[in-house]
Amino acid sequence: MSKLTVIEPATEKILAEIPAATAADIHSAVQKAKRAFPAWRKMPPAERVRIMHNIANLIEKNLEQLAWLESRNVGKPIGNARWEIGTVAQVFRYYAGAVERHMGTTVPVAGGFAMTFLEPLGVVGLITPWNFPLLIVSWKLAPALAAGNTCVLKPAELTPLTAMELEKIVLEAGLPEGVLNVVVGTGLEAGRALVEHPDVAKIAFTGSTVVGKDIAARAAQQIKRVTLELGGKSASIIMDDADIAAAAAGVPSSIFENSGQDCCARSRLLVHKNVLDDFMNALEPHVKNYRVGDPSTDVDMGPLISAQHRTRVENFIEGAKVSIIGSAPTGAGYWFAPRVLEPEYASDRIVQEEIFGPVTAIIPFSSEAEALELANGTIYGLSGSIWTRDNARALRMARAVDSGVLSINSNSSVRYTTPFGGFKQSGYGRELGSKALEAYSDEKTVYVRTDE
Ligand code: NAD
Repeated sequence: MSKLTVIEPATEKILAEIPAATAADIHSAVQKAKRAFPAWRKMPPAERVRIMHNIANLIEKNLEQLAWLESRNVGKPIGNARWEIGTVAQVFRYYAGAVERHMGTTVPVAGGFAMTFLEPLGVVGLITPWNFPLLIVSWKLAPALAAGNTCVLKPAELTPLTAMELEKIVLEAGLPEGVLNVVVGTGLEAGRALVEHPDVAKIAFTGSTVVGKDIAARAAQQIKRVTLELGGKSASIIMDDADIAAAAAGVPSSIFENSGQDCCARSRLLVHKNVLDDFMNALEPHVKNYRVGDPSTDVDMGPLISAQHRTRVENFIEGAKVSIIGSAPTGAGYWFAPRVLEPEYASDRIVQEEIFGPVTAIIPFSSEAEALELANGTIYGLSGSIWTRDNARALRMARAVDSGVLSINSNSSVRYTTPFGGFKQSGYGRELGSKALEAYSDEKTVYVRTDE
């Protein structure tokens, strides 16, 4: 049996060795989920609410242990990991509150009336990435359970540890056996087997656009429901009337946080030519002072996820002009100093493709129209920021940017109470917010004849 080796990116030491699940393991997990479905869907909503609150409580009780595991496995600063695990608990609470509000409508029609029911789909496959492991699991698992589905979760093979802990926690919280099944394996074997399994009604996927396309194509063979949260190349647009100090201070967290391994990372900085010099001067100390180091301490950024990923990032930026560079430790660990690049053309790879590292590209522009054209000039459309003091302009531009999420004078992209998802090749379907349960339900209309 082949093994998956889980590495701690800050030390390059082995954290765990896990047998890699096969297609047969996926099949047996799907069968468990299938058997658990009828009882879970029929369970009185108030009971499902209670279990989901229990899950939230137990996540909070185990917050320190889960945060340390996440920090060590991803290499993210422990402070960020604590925030993420705390948010996971809140996501379960939020969707616990949705269970009893998830209902259809009644429509008067000729001869009688019709009622609609929001039916659970059955067994749902959840496939998640390595950058925000447990947080992204919660975005899928909590609404899927709330809507009455059972789940097979395949976490990213680089960072499966918190998902494996969660499987124990949900049982302790009273979730019936088989409702959540965590299977750790590679994307090509376990992930693909889940996508192609005929008893899986839906795949909720977060990951790269390349894999998203493969999943969508395979799922289409069975008209399987799919939601896709994919890559991004989001822009911060800094207009000439912006608060330059605030915009520059916001850059590091917008791109370097989580070592730039964030689908919403603002990996393009579009800056009005009139304020370019001022902006670069204001930005420089923020990049140089960004604290990169041991994630178990109070730092801003840890290492990249793996040696392979660091090589990929290095290859991307080879030959590019570096405008500002920060610092990073040397020695063991997949360290990489954050940097701001000056591309030659808007068509350069570093401007067009998702690098997924702490690297952003400065692109000057001279008008609002040009800024919008540049902002919309990639295959992606996930997130972005607009920095201006003119409120009408901010809203006008926000309407014109092709992306699922935008923030004005801020870098905030994700709130669990608001919809999140992409335009264009950043994916389709929305997670989070009150409508997320709809992505885990099918609506049934029942007509009732009442005339004599
Ligand atoms: P990835 O696409 O390589 O892998 C994601 C998951 O899919 C993993 O669990 C992997 O094992 C599995 N997988 C890989 N190949 C598969 C296949 N052929 N069939 C089925 N499953 C397969 O992505 P990653 O490197 O883990 O994560 C980084 C990517 O995720 C970036 O592109 C990033 O932008 C994206 N992402 C998007 C969002 C979002 O919400 N839009 C959030 C986080 C990350």
